[in-house]
Amino acid sequence: MTHDLMVRGTAAAKAGEKSDAIRYFNWLLGLNPSAEEQTEAWQWLVGLVDDPAEKKSYLDEILSRNPGDARARRRLAELTGTLNPLEVIDPDRNPTSQPNEPIRSTIQRFLCAACGGRMIYTPDGKDLVCENCGSRQAVGGLKSRLSTTKPANFAAAMATTRGHVVPIRARITSCQGCGAEFRVPAHFLSANCPYCGSSYAAVDSNEKDILQPASLVPFKVGIKEVRDAMLAWFRSEGFHNPPSFAVPRGFYIPVWNFTVGGQLSWTGSVKKNDRWVPIRDAKVIQHPEILVLATNRLPETSKGILDTFHLTDLVNFDSHYLADWMAETYQIPVSDASLTARKVVLEAEKEQIPNQYPSRITNLRIDPASIAVDSHQLVLLPIWLTTYQHNQEQFEVAVNGQNCRVIGQLPAQGLSDWISGIFGG
Ligand SMILES: [Zn+2]
Ligand SMILES: [Zn+2]
Repeated sequence: MTHDLMVRGTAAAKAGEKSDAIRYFNWLLGLNPSAEEQTEAWQWLVGLVDDPAEKKSYLDEILSRNPGDARARRRLAELTGTLNPLEVIDPDRNPTSQPNEPIRSTIQRFLCAACGGRMIYTPDGKDLVCENCGSRQAVGGLKSRLSTTKPANFAAAMATTRGHVVPIRARITSCQGCGAEFRVPAHFLSANCPYCGSSYAAVDSNEKDILQPASLVPFKVGIKEVRDAMLAWFRSEGFHNPPSFAVPRGFYIPVWNFTVGGQLSWTGSVKKNDRWVPIRDAKVIQHPEILVLATNRLPETSKGILDTFHLTDLVNFDSHYLADWMAETYQIPVSDASLTARKVVLEAEKEQIPNQYPSRITNLRIDPASIAVDSHQLVLLPIWLTTYQHNQEQFEVAVNGQNCRVIGQLPAQGLSDWISGIFGG
């Protein structure tokens, strides 16, 4: 019966007989249909009814049962205006094809109002300081330090080009200090003029498809603290003599900050009275702050540095924080990074789920479609990078620019000078 009504309703809808179609689907919904039929009927009704409030009520029904339903999330984003239907990707057009000739761009220069010297952001906290006369200038109206930027709706971004492309157009600009023209690579958010050293941040991106950083953790530690942290780290890792290391360089690295959630459902078998019985279970999950690197340029061995940040220090993005610091924007599109975020959550849940059963669980299968990315935000995190030499080999080290935590590469074969130190060799 319900199957029959689904066939008739679908046929009527396709033939444009709206009122008949609505009648069939409502009839079907009154007959206790399966969950799949119910969802499908609601999806049809969203397209058939004219009243936005009624459309929304069907979408709410679908999402209350499956918060991860991608189609319903996208339609809801369109309905509520979060997603502009005009920006929705045309599937016949490759969303990654962008013209890649450089664009002429104006960028912001940080200049001392008192003497015309170069202003730089200092890691001691709040101010820009003039290198020449020491004048200070508070970073643009720092009334509220904490980040207030709302995370962006993921379903809406995925439906538009923004979710799938990365910036590939370099910017050409003329230096306001010396007049020279120079080029800022596409993935840089800040630059110093190669001729006179004036420091700049890219403020305008005319490209509507490029996502801007929403917030950042400002640098809190300077080069002196980083040097001390390196020496302490060498000691704690057992280096007899601290090796020499390259001058550390501070970077803001781009990171996607995801919230992943949904109704997680799984199947498996548990042992009850010496017999394996199949189970089917579900729970609602919400994982905020799933961080995924948005750049490939961080050394593989330094990726653990992401886990050492505290996002309580996030502030709204302001380009003044970039004065005299290297900053990159994303080179991994949010669509690709979201797959990593989902995988991280699935793996964490896979480890958690067995704990809630008194016996062992076998054949655990999680339905990956039951979880989805809710929101995303591009954030910049401060790190220092350096390398050290040991036995003619080079090793990479990253230091957290917020709290000085060190994540570094160690010689695979151990520390020969540590051994010789102990045995007096
Ligand atoms: Zn000055
Ligand atoms: Zn210049």
